[in-house]
Amino acid sequence: MVVYDGKGASSGIAIGTIKIYQKQEQTVARLHIDDIKAETARFHKGREEAQKQLEALYEKALLEVGEANAAIFEVHRMMLEDPDYMESVENMIELQEVNAEYAVASTGDNFAQMFSQMEDTYMRERAADVKDISERLIAILRGEEKEKEEYGRPVILIAEDLTPSETVQLDKSKVLSFVTVQGVSNSHTAILARTMGIPALIGVKVPLDDTLDGKIAVSDGFEGKLVVEPTEDVLQKYRDKVSQLERKKQLLQKLKGKETVTSDGKKIKLYANVGSVADVMSALQNDAAGIGLFRSEFLYLEKDRYPTQEEQFQVYKSVVENMAGRRVIIRTCDVGADKQADYFQVPKEENPALGYRAIRICLDRKEMFKDQLKAIFRASAFGKVAIMYPMIISVDEVLQIKAVVEEVKSELDASGIEYEAVEQGIMIETPAAGVISDLLAKEVDFFSIGTNDLTQYMLAIDRQNPLLEKINDTHHPALLRMVEWVVKSAHKEGIWAGICGELGADLSLTETFLKMGVDEFSVTPNAILPVREKILASAAR
Ligand code: PEP
Ligand code: MG
Repeated sequence: MVVYDGKGASSGIAIGTIKIYQKQEQTVARLHIDDIKAETARFHKGREEAQKQLEALYEKALLEVGEANAAIFEVHRMMLEDPDYMESVENMIELQEVNAEYAVASTGDNFAQMFSQMEDTYMRERAADVKDISERLIAILRGEEKEKEEYGRPVILIAEDLTPSETVQLDKSKVLSFVTVQGVSNSHTAILARTMGIPALIGVKVPLDDTLDGKIAVSDGFEGKLVVEPTEDVLQKYRDKVSQLERKKQLLQKLKGKETVTSDGKKIKLYANVGSVADVMSALQNDAAGIGLFRSEFLYLEKDRYPTQEEQFQVYKSVVENMAGRRVIIRTCDVGADKQADYFQVPKEENPALGYRAIRICLDRKEMFKDQLKAIFRASAFGKVAIMYPMIISVDEVLQIKAVVEEVKSELDASGIEYEAVEQGIMIETPAAGVISDLLAKEVDFFSIGTNDLTQYMLAIDRQNPLLEKINDTHHPALLRMVEWVVKSAHKEGIWAGICGELGADLSLTETFLKMGVDEFSVTPNAILPVREKILASAAR
């Protein structure tokens, strides 16, 4: 038995087999080759293999998801037959005497660049497809498997680190726990683990070679320990703990269906934070009174192009319908900082957390923003929808957003598309927004305090930096004073204020927040019943 120490980022106990997660190699080396004929033949052999894979994927998708969704594989297969594409790769191998992988990567980049600058939206979207086929082909030429890793049975996944886009692409039904060598508690990967209700460990210094692969282990999210090959006694102790946790969960079930009201009678909105339609089921099972934060950017992260208005509409509609009349607050796309998608083509930044992200991108890329707003407004015809905007720093931004919303509404009116009134709120997650919350409160319907980012920006502590984890004081008085001021500003203008950052689920602060007047708590689905228990036992005055 070997015990590795780290820090628990999501509580719980998982017992299972270890799987070491290998990142896909991103860079392609440029190599000089002498035998041009052989290299060109190698390219064509790889190309034919890629076509075969795509044909098989098409057949599989046809059965599983229907023709419309399967068609993309057929498009990819045909692109590999495109004479211009083939000629470009062949020429590069011949004239520059380079390896096939490099020629494919460069041609892919050039074509993607060309597509991304085209007027036509359909053609622009093909840029991501070209990149995708290049990656597939490069993987084949390197002798790797391009398909997503599939784990036969659920595993404890160990990685150096995981980005949010890697995490969303994993088959979550097959992951019992995340364990990372790097990582911080408020990273989106840790948040995802909490939303999924599985234990997560960070800062665990395990070897990432294959020594641990396939071994039985316990991931203890309470103590922040990974116990590899536990003795029978230790294993039994953990099995007992799992049963005990199960019993506690059962006991909390009695709070289902109860109103969330403080001991002195103030009704509190207790909502769920979700990132996908699947999480909505968990929100319902845990008796959420609404969705307080739908992280819509995960829709963008799991794709290799902007999701279309129709794709988004179907997702939002499904969330809204499932919540059956309860409020659903959709946060507009918060891509950027640690949530990067290559196809956004954001130039490399020195300080991405202070960079081009969230509403800054949306106000810049108006068509993309309008598509999302239209999808949200269309979904409002099916239930109670609200929108909130992330990373606001000024009143001017709110006014700009309002102008875009007006445009969106008149375009929907002109097309005869129905929608309902939609409440519009903002996230308070920058110090600037917090300080001028008295002015912002005049312009919006509600505030939702994003304590994850607000903490990072107020304390000047990068939420992604593991070195700073130990000084990241989430109870810092500056932060608590700011929350109090924001709630006060909201109430002065007669609007409500909630917390949707992870601090909303910190039971040691629930009563403090209630006394400050916080009206809403939006927490990870598994935290709803514990927070309800705490609110029922606390006074708001
Ligand atoms: C926050 O910053 O507190 C928040 C809820 O948003 P995210 O964690 O997605 O940045
Ligand atoms: Mg945030």
